[in-house]
Amino acid sequence: MTLSIQPHQPITEGARTFLTGGPKKLLIANEWKDPVGGQHFATNDPASGARLAELAEATSEDADLAIAAARNALSEPAWRDMKPSARGRLLWKIADLIEAHADELAELETLDQGKSWATSRFAEIPASAEQFRYFAGFANKILGQTIPTSIGYHPPGKKVFAYTSREPVGVVAAITPWNSPLLMAAMKLAPALCAGCTVVLKPAEETSLTALRLGELMVEAGLPAGVVNIITGFGSLGAHLTAHKGVDKVAFTGSTEVGRMIVGAAQGNLKKLTLELGGKSPAIVMPDADFDLVLPGVARGIFANSGQVCVAGSRAYVHSSIYDRFVEGLAKEAGKLRLGHGLDKETDLGPLVSTGQAERVAAFITEGRAEGAGIAAGGERLGDDSAFYAPTVVTGVKADMRMMREEIFGPVIAVTPFDDPEEALAYANDTDYGLAASVWTQDLSSAHRLAAGIKAGTVWINCHSYFSPELPKGGHKESGWGYENGAQGLENYLETKTVCAVI
Ligand code: NAD
Repeated sequence: MTLSIQPHQPITEGARTFLTGGPKKLLIANEWKDPVGGQHFATNDPASGARLAELAEATSEDADLAIAAARNALSEPAWRDMKPSARGRLLWKIADLIEAHADELAELETLDQGKSWATSRFAEIPASAEQFRYFAGFANKILGQTIPTSIGYHPPGKKVFAYTSREPVGVVAAITPWNSPLLMAAMKLAPALCAGCTVVLKPAEETSLTALRLGELMVEAGLPAGVVNIITGFGSLGAHLTAHKGVDKVAFTGSTEVGRMIVGAAQGNLKKLTLELGGKSPAIVMPDADFDLVLPGVARGIFANSGQVCVAGSRAYVHSSIYDRFVEGLAKEAGKLRLGHGLDKETDLGPLVSTGQAERVAAFITEGRAEGAGIAAGGERLGDDSAFYAPTVVTGVKADMRMMREEIFGPVIAVTPFDDPEEALAYANDTDYGLAASVWTQDLSSAHRLAAGIKAGTVWINCHSYFSPELPKGGHKESGWGYENGAQGLENYLETKTVCAVI
């Protein structure tokens, strides 16, 4: 089967203006600048292959300018002395502007990344605004403590008065992946700004458009110069940021492989790191699972955004008493999904982010088939040079096969039977990753026993991929360091200073 997609013209006035305004620039100290080296690269619509815009290819010189602007802004009174409530209002205003421009941002996101209009417009763009609202509320609630002390070697008649204060970590390099571009940027910008940090944001080279548009909106919201700088470019630009002495912290979301490189690069000045990395998340389906919930839920858990979700439920372990019925039902769910251009309102699933990513998914399936895996649904790329891959259900995948161990980052789920919960837990935990998992059962105690037994940062019960800014999100094992969201998400952007006085 092939799928031929025609280029889409932008519909909203805002997206049209943004895309026709000439090559994109870099945001440094609130000015839009051409890259020092004068180089650009194209960003394309993965569904049709049409060119959307030319992006500035920043070099290390541009990165140095952006870092200098961020460092300077840290000590400028406009930011350093801004009252906490004013910082909160600024974050809230950014959220309002995202919402006011939601149609345009959703259109840009879908054109650039491929995801369906519904996912962009009704999930990710509003969720990006919510990130800013959540952290807006924290800005005037960042508190130190007064602490009574026990050790008494101070001069007689004196006493110790000790307290802590909280300070911004400093300059943050925020580096994001291509799967949920605006949301990933918002998850870093909102807590960083709440804490009083300054930021150099490097979005993924495949999907930089909404970050650049957000930059325009942040300037419009009144962000002081240099507080957020946005530079576009490739992995080498990210590598330069992560090794740079002028950067105090790296907030990274992306692959475990690049996460490891960042750990190495950050050693020079021992940068603080938060690493939100890859996953190979299991779904455990118990014999009493509610089929009306579990089939659409597991299908959504793997196929949403064509499987390009860090927490995608790519391994289902299903009790053997319901295994055949489950595989048949899941294959039907996969078959119902309509593939097409994300801007077509009937489309459930858009393309993968690039033809290269579709090739990668196809290679996993070819290898799995050769090793004996069976295909219950999908298993094909929709055209030789297409970025579309059919939602795929695979059976008979052995524990040591590459498709069971590595992150495919495509719409592919392996379904395996189990006989007792201990076996299901052993399967679920048989991975280097520990990002997320789901448990499907109507029995409260087995739900919570399984949740306790799974080594992962998030466990969902009777749902998969539910996010909200209040909920900490992070990876155990090789899925990362630290947490985003919730009060813990803010901690990553703050230092503690202890002040101890003899009075
Ligand atoms: P990637 O690691 O290839 O790239 C991510 C970002 O890092 C890009 O901006 C890229 O330019 C940059 N980069 C590349 N090499 C670099 C280097 N040496 N130093 C610094 N930066 C460098 O990831 P991707 O392919 O864009 O995204 C997919 C990956 O992201 C998947 O593994 C997915 O699981 C992960 N992800 C994780 C989460 C999470 O919250 N845990 C969320 C979304 C995506």
